[in-house]
Amino acid sequence: MRRVVLKLSGEALASSSSVETIDASVVDFLARAISNSMAVGGLELAVVVGGGNIWRGATGAMAGMNRANSDLMGMLGTVINALALQDAIESHGRPTRVMSAINMDQVAEPYIRRRAVRHLEKGRVVIFAAGMGNPYFTTDTPAAQRAAEIEAEVVLKGTHGGVDGVYSEDPKKNPDATKYDVITFDEVLAKDLRVMDLTAITFCKDNELPIRVFDLMAPDNLRRALAGEAVGTLVK
Ligand code: UDP
Repeated sequence: MRRVVLKLSGEALASSSSVETIDASVVDFLARAISNSMAVGGLELAVVVGGGNIWRGATGAMAGMNRANSDLMGMLGTVINALALQDAIESHGRPTRVMSAINMDQVAEPYIRRRAVRHLEKGRVVIFAAGMGNPYFTTDTPAAQRAAEIEAEVVLKGTHGGVDGVYSEDPKKNPDATKYDVITFDEVLAKDLRVMDLTAITFCKDNELPIRVFDLMAPDNLRRALAGEAVGTLVK
């Protein structure tokens, strides 16, 4: 069994072509790929979902809000996204569990590591909501931290802005930027390449947890990434 953590940003659930905070057709596209990949077998999947389509703590803090309060709003946003994703994945016949880092009994199970692992072993897609439950983080760091905790072999970081991996420079600003197939954590840090948040990158480096960065929206890409194919860029 390959056990992986997929990091989906909240904005990946929105869509550039609609004003919806959560675009049902985009969520369905992702859910279909996830449930098809699970049906093939050999895969245990946990998803960490962000909340940037709804609220980012930093936005409120910049407008003068208390940062910890604003971050709580962001974490609650991830729970909304998690429920949307749960519904969509289950509509494709794959059982799921949402586990929240902030206790909310009527909405989701509390996060308990051993229980999460049991769900994975039973073939359920586990969706981690509310990040780590602590302010001053984004969901990149819980993606890495939960991956380490449940002993996943890789963090799959899906992008949605049309950039299909890690480049030497921003490919949208410099068309001559080159894409890496493989890059080390040290190079990512030395060149300040924005793969994930710095906290998440250093965590993955310290814990020898590879990250694969790939384009979530390109046809068949999510399935390929979940199948362990070499799409995008591997950071190790
Ligand atoms: N957040 C937090 N602690 C966590 C995870 C998330 O405080 O462990 C808050 C933070 O305010 C963040 C927001 O939740 O801005 C939404 O998450 P994120 O920005 O990572 O969403 P994404 O960019 O992935 O959509």
